Amino acid sequence: MKCPYCGHSDTRVVDSRPSDEGAAIRRRRECPGCGRRFTTYERAQLEPLMVIKRDGRREPFNPDKLLRGLLLACEKRPVSQETLRHFAYTFEDQVAGPEISSEEIGLKAMAFLRDLDQVAYIRFASVYREFDSVERFIEEIRHLGGVDKREEG
Ligand SMILES: [Zn+2]
Repeated sequence: MKCPYCGHSDTRVVDSRPSDEGAAIRRRRECPGCGRRFTTYERAQLEPLMVIKRDGRREPFNPDKLLRGLLLACEKRPVSQETLRHFAYTFEDQVAGPEISSEEIGLKAMAFLRDLDQVAYIRFASVYREFDSVERFIEEIRHLGGVDKREEG
């Protein structure tokens, strides 16, 4: 298992225990390269969730990709990495259908971050929504700060 922080190709399992009432195995790993620890979840997968990308192509859902985005957004924020991991690795269980659009994943992640940390939310949203103007970005920050001046628009 590759280290998600430094990319070191080999990591050590330091703890392994059942999670989600036995539906998953939670493994705590340590990277000998950078010394950081992270958690992996191993679970049975019956049918992979498919992601419909913006260009219409489909690919299997990758929780690592989602987690990477969340970790970046929460960098230096008081957010537990365990919380982010739990969200990313149980994400598939929260989706009802066999398919989801990448936009929908972004929206769900934004809703999750919005309750967690506003700075992280803004960072994530700025990437996912690809703010098309500074005005929209400021509008979003204003909205978060509760300075909602509707009379301007
Ligand atoms: Zn590392």
